[in-house]
Amino acid sequence: MSKRIYLSSPHMSDEGYEMDYVKEAFETNWIAPLGENVNKFEQEFAEKVGVRAAAALSSGTAALHLALKAAGVGSGDIVFCQTLTFSATANPIIYQNATPVFIDSNYETWNMCPDALEEAFNKYPEVKAVIVVHLYGLSADIERIAQMCKERNVVLIEDAAESLGSLYNGQQTGTFGDFGIFSFNGNKIITTSGGGMLVSNNEEAIEKARFWATQSRDKAIHYQHSELGYNYRMSNVLAGIGRGQLKVLDERVEKKRYIYEFYKRELKELNGIKWMPEIKIDRPNYWLSAITLTGDTTPLDIIDTLEKENIESRPVWKPMHMQPYFKNYDYVGSTISEQLFGNGVCLPSETKMTDKDLYRITSIIKSL
Ligand SMILES: *Cc1c(COP(=O)(O)O)cnc(C)c1O
Repeated sequence: MSKRIYLSSPHMSDEGYEMDYVKEAFETNWIAPLGENVNKFEQEFAEKVGVRAAAALSSGTAALHLALKAAGVGSGDIVFCQTLTFSATANPIIYQNATPVFIDSNYETWNMCPDALEEAFNKYPEVKAVIVVHLYGLSADIERIAQMCKERNVVLIEDAAESLGSLYNGQQTGTFGDFGIFSFNGNKIITTSGGGMLVSNNEEAIEKARFWATQSRDKAIHYQHSELGYNYRMSNVLAGIGRGQLKVLDERVEKKRYIYEFYKRELKELNGIKWMPEIKIDRPNYWLSAITLTGDTTPLDIIDTLEKENIESRPVWKPMHMQPYFKNYDYVGSTISEQLFGNGVCLPSETKMTDKDLYRITSIIKSL
C-alpha cells in the first residue's frame, strides 16, 4: 500500500527553523512558563497579518472563547454564528451560556450570507456579537458584514482558523472585525501541534485576554483573583514551532494555490464538478480544495474510492443547525449550506504532495 495521503497534515520547514527555536527554549530551560518564543511569536504574527496586538493561546477554540468574553457576551445573550463551519466556532457561545442563532451561507462566498444576516438583525435587534468564518480559506463578504455590524454597534469576531494567509482586498482575513482568531491545530496551514492566536487592534483587550488566559492573577505576591480565570496560554516550546512555521507560511500558501489550480486543470474535462467560488477581490489560501458535484457521482463515491487507495478526503463540513447538539437553536436562511454539505467534497490538500501524488488522485477521480 502506498503511503497515506491526508487531507492536510503538519509540514515542518525543510530548513529546520522550528527545531532551532525549540532548541533555544531547551538550552535556556525556558520550557515553561511564558518566554521569549511566546513574546516573539505574538509580535511576528501581529506584524505578518497587520494588526496591533496578538495573544498566543492553547487553541483556536480558546481564542474564540476569550473573544466572546472580551465582547462582553454572557448568560442569555444572542450571538449570530455562521452555520457552515466546524463545531469549534459555535461551542464557545455555549461556554459563555449565550444563545447561538445560526446563519446560512451564500453561493458567492460559501460563507455568511449578508441578506440572511440582515434578516437576523431584524429578528434579534438585541444581538451582542456576530461570528463569521472564512471557510477553507475563502473570504467571507467581510467588508460588507463589518459595515453592517458597525452600523448596529455589534461586535464582529472573525473565525480565521482556516484562512491564515488569505487576502481580501489586499488585507489579511481576521483583521477586519473587532477580534480575529487563528488556529495552529495539526491540520491547519501552519501548526504548533496545537495552539491558537487572538488578534485585535484593541491592545487593551488583548492585554486583558492574556490576563484571563493565565488564571486571572491579580498583581499580588500571594495568589489573588478578582475574576474567573482560564489556563489558555501557549507554551514557550510550541511558540518556537510557530515562529519557525511562520517563516514558511507564504510558501505553504503558494503550494495550496498550486494544488487547487492543479485539480482545476486536470479535472476540467469532467462534467458535474463545480469549483469553489472565485471573486476578484479575494485571494484565498486554499487551505482545502473543495468541489461540489452536480451530476450522478456522489461525494461518497469519491471519498470511498479514494479511501480504498489510502487517500483521505471528506464531505464539506456539516452545518451546525443540522447537528443533534445544536438542533433546537434558531436558524436564519434557506438551504444553501445544506446543499453545500450534501454535494461537497474536500479533496486532499497536503502541501507535501508531489505532482505524482496529485496525478494519482486526479486519475482516480477521472475513472469514476
Ligand atoms: C480548526 C478550527 C477551529 C478550532 O481551532 P482549534 O485550534 O482546533 O481549537 C475553529 N474554527 C474553525 C473553522 C476551524 O477549522
